[in-house]
Amino acid sequence: MKMIDKNFILYAGLLLMLSCQTSQKCASKDAYWPSSSALKKLKQQVKGHLYVGRKSDLGSDERNPFVRQEHPGLMQTKGWHEAWSPANSPFVIRAESVEDVVHGVNFAREHNLRLVIKGTGHDYLGRSSATNSLLIWTHPMRDIKSHANFIPAACIAVAGEPAVSVEAGARWLEVYQHVTLAGGHYVQGGGCNSVGAAGGFLQGGGFGSFSRKFGTAAANLLEAEVVLADGSIRLANACQNQDLFWALRGGGGGTFGVVTRITLRTHPLPKTFGSITGKINAKTDDAFKQLIKRFARFYRSVNGEHFGEIVNFTQKNELELRLHFQELSEIEASAKWQPFFTWVKKHPEFEITQNFKVEAKSPSEHWTFKNQQAQLRDSQSEAPYWWWSAQDDEIATTIYAYYSRWIPQNLFTEQRLAEFTNMIFKASRVFGLSLHFNKGLAGANPLAVSRARETSLHPGSLDAMALLIMGAQSREVHNPQFIAQKKAELRQAFAIVKHSTPEAGTYGNETDYFLENWESEIYGPNFSRLLKIKQAVDSQGLFQCHHCIPLRGQNLESIQK
Ligand SMILES: Cc1cc2nc3c(=O)[nH]c(=O)nc-3n(C[C@H](O)[C@H](O)[C@H](O)COP(=O)(O)OP(=O)(O)OC[C@H]3O[C@@H](n4cnc5c(N)ncnc54)[C@H](O)[C@@H]3O)c2cc1C
Repeated sequence: MKMIDKNFILYAGLLLMLSCQTSQKCASKDAYWPSSSALKKLKQQVKGHLYVGRKSDLGSDERNPFVRQEHPGLMQTKGWHEAWSPANSPFVIRAESVEDVVHGVNFAREHNLRLVIKGTGHDYLGRSSATNSLLIWTHPMRDIKSHANFIPAACIAVAGEPAVSVEAGARWLEVYQHVTLAGGHYVQGGGCNSVGAAGGFLQGGGFGSFSRKFGTAAANLLEAEVVLADGSIRLANACQNQDLFWALRGGGGGTFGVVTRITLRTHPLPKTFGSITGKINAKTDDAFKQLIKRFARFYRSVNGEHFGEIVNFTQKNELELRLHFQELSEIEASAKWQPFFTWVKKHPEFEITQNFKVEAKSPSEHWTFKNQQAQLRDSQSEAPYWWWSAQDDEIATTIYAYYSRWIPQNLFTEQRLAEFTNMIFKASRVFGLSLHFNKGLAGANPLAVSRARETSLHPGSLDAMALLIMGAQSREVHNPQFIAQKKAELRQAFAIVKHSTPEAGTYGNETDYFLENWESEIYGPNFSRLLKIKQAVDSQGLFQCHHCIPLRGQNLESIQK
């Protein structure tokens, strides 16, 4: 009996070693876990920028998004209920250069370690955090440089254009400070200042308030410097490594390599940025249906390149405007919205619970913390780091459920308006929802649309009037019944939306952790080409993440959280 036990232990040990050497990634119990001498060598290679076994020493309740980012073991949220929680990686390379990244990639590959890349830790699906991993933390790489006339490498007969090069760890706030406040240009980034410019946001598509005019961030990428799984450094642009270039513009972060620097097209700065706010309460269900229909018909008439951001529909029969616009004066924007405001005011079945307000600002006012909607919390840093107050609800919370869906423009046509109204009305009986009009490109600026068509983002975004988002998250600790009920409500509300949009797809950067058919839902018809590119650039599957492009035949369930 004793003999059998011994053989069994030997056999099990051998299996562990083999699994660590082959398809599975090493865990701390494995014999191939890096030795202290290997780690010592790595530390020398990365000039000391290596943490081993260091745990985040900050309480996970910290609400300043920029302070959270100073800690490699923290994420912006506290995780997703029954899906993932932030993890401390046993090995963290605090990368300061592309060479540090190369050493990290080589080390992870040679030791068959799970490799994770983290910029800001904003990922809703927790893909920049994993136990038993080597983390390449790009946070210190924040250099930003403007170009008057950028020509991508190996491009010969191409006219140069104004651009900005940004290292992997820079956040949008820093890019706006450089490009807009100091440089007087516009760059298409994200609505939330604390999101990273070069990481998951851009590689998953990337929408900002004014994407209807300037397109997605991915569509403005002119060149990316990438460290591939074999440790080589590549430049991808329209003239070389074109497949990789396409994949990096929508195919998702953490998948094809570590992007160490991006160069983005910049644009002339619009003369104004503005906002439209207001809230209407319909006194009856019938009145709310009328309001939804009237709003959709009206919005069709102003849809174009000027307006973006959010309209909320609540269970209490409210329609809330939280829109932004660019390049219009207050008088011009008000004139466009007057027909809708007048119609609402004329009907006694509606109560205006927050007055309509149209406000235009100069670009510098818009992008500084002086903006009234913004908050300044972190004065320790040399630059003022601020974030929009709306973001407060997302920081240090636990996500219960989150869904998104591209809403096709044909649902806004006269023939399908009744169906659209019904969908919004019925879904909002169960759970409140938002339409993000800046995240659908139907009817947007034609150049922005044609550039987005050249990227690997789900083409449903091009045909969409808006992205519908619904989610529940909380800072409070709720009981399991409460959470289960919220999840069930959201599932039910989202099923109503899905029923009217069967082919539409979802935005991979803002989607459900438990998404079924995620390959087609996130990547649509681009999935098969992305698979081929993945095979070509990462044939051993060094880069793995949840709902990310896998190697052909890879067992996705085996991906460690
Ligand atoms: C508060 C908040 C606001 C948001 N606002 C918007 C918005 O306005 N518009 C929008 O489109 N989306 C928005 N998002 C979604 C956002 O696009 C995703 O959360 C995105 O994944 C964030 O990317 P990151 O690099 O900042 O985050 P991280 O969590 O650091 O990384 C996200 C993913 O990218 C990978 N990655 C990071 N850096 C690199 C790199 N250098 N090379 C390769 N892979 C890398 C990571 O491994 C991970 O898989 C928002 C999210 C939050 C939490």
